[in-house]
Amino acid sequence: MDSLSYAKFPFLRDAAEYVKDQGVTLEDLLTHQAYRQARARGKARVIDALEYGVIQLRPMATEGDCLEEILSYPMARMYVSGVDDRFLTRRYALSEGVTMYERLEREEMDIVEEVAYQLDVSASQESGSLRMHFSNYLLYTSRMRSKDWKLINTEVKRGYVLLPQLRFARVLQQALQDKLESELPLPLDESILRALADDINDLKERTAIRREQYKAEDFGKVSVENFPPCMKHFIGMAQAGENLPHSARFALVSFMHHIGLTSEEILNLFAVSPDFNISKTKYQIEHITGEISGTEYTPPECTTMKSYGICFNPDSLCQNPKAKVKHPLGYYRIKNRSKKSAKAVPSSRS
Ligand code: SF4
Repeated sequence: MDSLSYAKFPFLRDAAEYVKDQGVTLEDLLTHQAYRQARARGKARVIDALEYGVIQLRPMATEGDCLEEILSYPMARMYVSGVDDRFLTRRYALSEGVTMYERLEREEMDIVEEVAYQLDVSASQESGSLRMHFSNYLLYTSRMRSKDWKLINTEVKRGYVLLPQLRFARVLQQALQDKLESELPLPLDESILRALADDINDLKERTAIRREQYKAEDFGKVSVENFPPCMKHFIGMAQAGENLPHSARFALVSFMHHIGLTSEEILNLFAVSPDFNISKTKYQIEHITGEISGTEYTPPECTTMKSYGICFNPDSLCQNPKAKVKHPLGYYRIKNRSKKSAKAVPSSRS
């Protein structure tokens, strides 16, 4: 494997060896100006996990970019350990797992096999398919609710389960998630906590905000006219058969789920997309709605939507300083409330 592969899969044992060979010490990483960007990327990794449930892919044109990306991984682990909050740890582990899954989908089988090997999953290739020892398969699929994952519904040959690449990667996602959840939080000494104190405090605040947002909410009957402009724009794009960027798709699905649409209803929204792939879209929806992952996601805050360039057509309510709209769900809540009170108090002309 090369440095680009390590950057894409920085949790590999070989990636840690690569960092050692580059002579980067922990002290350098924590304090040296040369690694400022790696520290920032490590924090961004954790923020991505909180906001999107997946680590955004960054441009990696040079060896230096790749090294920064690899180093962002141990940094993220230190940040998560410093926050030391079960909610964040689980969410981070899940996000690293999902990110690996999405990347493995586009990799050669040799790379997939190597990643499995380094996650201690017994696997090999057989006539264009990947196979996994049934004991590993059972260990990682036992919590998956769909009956498709039952051993009885798979092809088993001489103790190995044959799997297409996408399903194989999905099992590896669980393996990585379990590994990270068992490893984190790391014990951090005082000097590390001191060096990262400001960022850790910031991440603690962000974690508390996100946790509040995940609490279930009853939005009543769905009212499309009260949707925020960004969501109306995404729906328009989906209905026109345009490709939605990943971040917009995530925001739309999580928004729809939170206001009460079923997975089936959300799936129908994407059915006209040019790249519509029913099983992949279903998987993405079930991941975001918590049916697979066990974690329900909410859309990102308006500031994050803006930073990703997906805050489309903000209207007067979005921009009204008195309304203090900070979140697309907040926008919807305010609009619903004002419509209800308008109905409750008829105007003098009616
Ligand atoms: S300000 Fe917020 S609610 Fe309004 S369009 Fe932008 S992201 Fe959507």
